[in-house]
Amino acid sequence: MKLLDTIAAVSTPYGKGGVAMIRISGADAFCVADKIFKAANGKPLSDTEHGKMTYGEIFMPSENISIDDGMAVRFCAPRSFTGEDTVEITCHGGILVTRKVLSAVLAAGARHAEAGEFTRRAYVSGKMKLTQAEALGDMLEADSESRLLLARNGMRGNLAKAADKIYVSLRTVLASMYAAIDFPDEDLAEMSREEISEALCKAKADIVKIANTYRTGRAVNEGIATVICGRANAGKSSVYNRILGYDAAIVTDIEGTTRDVLREKATLGSATLLLCDTAGLRKTDDVVENIGIERTLGVLNEAELVLAVFDASVPLTDEDRELIDIIANSKKTAIALLNKTDRGAETLVSLNKEVFAEVIHLSALTGEGFDTLAKTVDSLFIDGSIDISNDAIVTGARQYASLICAAEAVTQSIEDIDAELPLDLVSVGLESAMAALGEVDGREIGEEVVSEIFSKFCVGK
Ligand code: GDP
Repeated sequence: MKLLDTIAAVSTPYGKGGVAMIRISGADAFCVADKIFKAANGKPLSDTEHGKMTYGEIFMPSENISIDDGMAVRFCAPRSFTGEDTVEITCHGGILVTRKVLSAVLAAGARHAEAGEFTRRAYVSGKMKLTQAEALGDMLEADSESRLLLARNGMRGNLAKAADKIYVSLRTVLASMYAAIDFPDEDLAEMSREEISEALCKAKADIVKIANTYRTGRAVNEGIATVICGRANAGKSSVYNRILGYDAAIVTDIEGTTRDVLREKATLGSATLLLCDTAGLRKTDDVVENIGIERTLGVLNEAELVLAVFDASVPLTDEDRELIDIIANSKKTAIALLNKTDRGAETLVSLNKEVFAEVIHLSALTGEGFDTLAKTVDSLFIDGSIDISNDAIVTGARQYASLICAAEAVTQSIEDIDAELPLDLVSVGLESAMAALGEVDGREIGEEVVSEIFSKFCVGK
């Protein structure tokens, strides 16, 4: 990917709307805009004030036919989203007119931007750290209040700042070690071995504390792999639909209606659930249904949370007991949902507390009990002592993996310094710790990883 040419794309979603915005970024942005935008005040856009909106007409370069009228605003580097010279042109939001304005911009010399290229430039020019760029991506995806709060938190740079603080503390230790290694006779080292060990222990504790937020960050942002299982007709699909808030699965009283695994993302309380509805576990000669049951067992294996649905209006059956055994053997975090309580509860069973983290009475028909379910999931996966809006929180597997590597390398350095190993050996471990920590906010990260991260963005962002 070239990083120095001038790029352009429509930054608003495809479709009909009141207005659409075309963004141009790069060294020639003003020159490109001057070729297609004629301000009503007669001044070239490149002569207007930074950040000031100007009304004018948009033309195809070297043609005299007006495509549209609209507003243009120029941002001078580095005071723009990308950190480069940027022009944003707002035109009317018809599909054809928007496409024509973009064509004019491209004909005037800009290249069509790739997915995430504007944000990537913002990262490359130092306008944002990698974790902030990732949080921006999460914000575009956010479909729950808590995800939005978390994304906003990341965009404000709380994780980047926390990682940076630890990085700087490790750099201070390393500098002191280098001084002692390079000038052993001059007593330049400011830190004794004890002080180094102490500083490293503090850094390790800080890294582990941040890494531990990932359980919460993941439950809110990436989602908890959750499987709904139970015998046929217990009400699994009804529970699935109730959590999703719409009828995604077919509900009938005919056993074996759900044959394949259905998957949807849902919000429950503060958590995001990667929800699977499964075929009922029952003995049958139906080949297709049996394949569905096999798949159910497979999904159960991958799940982090099992929602086991029982029909509370009738006594437990052998199939229910078989399911309880399967869950017990799986050692998964499981919640028993005693459904159909609107019919009265027959199954006031004392379900084994060792198998189920919680037993909840509910009715998929009336919605009763689902608030309790939401609170239970929150209490199992979300650490209530974490402030989602303000604490440094890990929201992705990439960030978590880097922190774990950093923690391991610091642990090694602590062991080495405490074992009185030579400082040049200790410094090697510390350098790896800093490299791993530097990956969190992208200061030490490979080109391929950066490309992978930004490819998930949409064009125009
Ligand atoms: P599944 O086979 O386990 O997915 O069960 P379904 O969700 O398809 O439900 C089986 C039958 O039970 C349907 O007729 C549902 O309308 C009914 N049902 C599900 N949940 C409830 C509930 O909470 N109360 C009552 N009264 N009926 C329910």
